Amino acid sequence: MMSTKKVQQVLAPPPAHMVGDGFRVHNFFPSGYNISNRRMSPFFMLDYNSKIEFSPREIPRGVGVHPHRGFETVTIAYHGRVAHGDSYGNSGVIGEGEVQWMTAASGILHKEHHEEEFSKTGGLFQMVQLWVNLPAKDKMSTPKYQAITKEMMGRYALPDGKGEVEIIAGSYEGVKGPAFTFTPIELYNLRLKKGARLTLDFPETDNTGLLMIEGSALVNEETTQQDHFALMANEGTTFTVEALEDAVVLVLSGTPINEPIASYGPFLMNTSEELQQAIKDFNTGKFGTLED
Ligand code: MN
Repeated sequence: MMSTKKVQQVLAPPPAHMVGDGFRVHNFFPSGYNISNRRMSPFFMLDYNSKIEFSPREIPRGVGVHPHRGFETVTIAYHGRVAHGDSYGNSGVIGEGEVQWMTAASGILHKEHHEEEFSKTGGLFQMVQLWVNLPAKDKMSTPKYQAITKEMMGRYALPDGKGEVEIIAGSYEGVKGPAFTFTPIELYNLRLKKGARLTLDFPETDNTGLLMIEGSALVNEETTQQDHFALMANEGTTFTVEALEDAVVLVLSGTPINEPIASYGPFLMNTSEELQQAIKDFNTGKFGTLED
């Protein structure tokens, strides 16, 4: 039987802080709000760079070389372009409307900057970065990338030209998203015209939230303003989203990974011994090399 999944809480964007000099982010979790770092598992972190105008700059702003181990970073570009490079020799650009799904797993060094041409002209910038935990058995697997372009996204058109559901991972109404995930994850952009209304349905025990990227919407009866995050309750399965104006809504939902968590900075492991090992491996050059 279908039952309503309620909004547990609508969270306003916490005060922003800079990551390097290129990303001005609101951290909704795990540190922005006093919600457990398991509450949105398998999503461990949500950094939201709300809209900001960057002035032109010759030398791109960003974050220099840093490591990751034990999880995946998922970067979604709404405005502006991000260039990345890593210790495996990979590099590329995340353009507007694109997603980079990076499996750091056993460990990489990388850097993230505004793409050169974007930096020179400056302009509007808006991004999301999610950290997706990996199950213990996959934490030390080989790093890899999924560069997901607009053309690759799954698309479900809403009736009457009211917009679409863009599926990055998981599936909606039988339309699959392109991302490979280690555990069950649904990740969509709802691109809605004013008045569009749709129903979403996720398992009761999965963790679900909606980030209002653009415009405002009703989540069930709760008004959710731009830049706010609707945390859905772990009861009931079905809820509705109705656009109060043209809107873009990032929907994330996933099956929690019920394993111990040991986290320190850019490392996300199961035990403190594994954390110590990660720090040691990083300090002894096991993550490879990368020039700033
Ligand atoms: Mn990073």
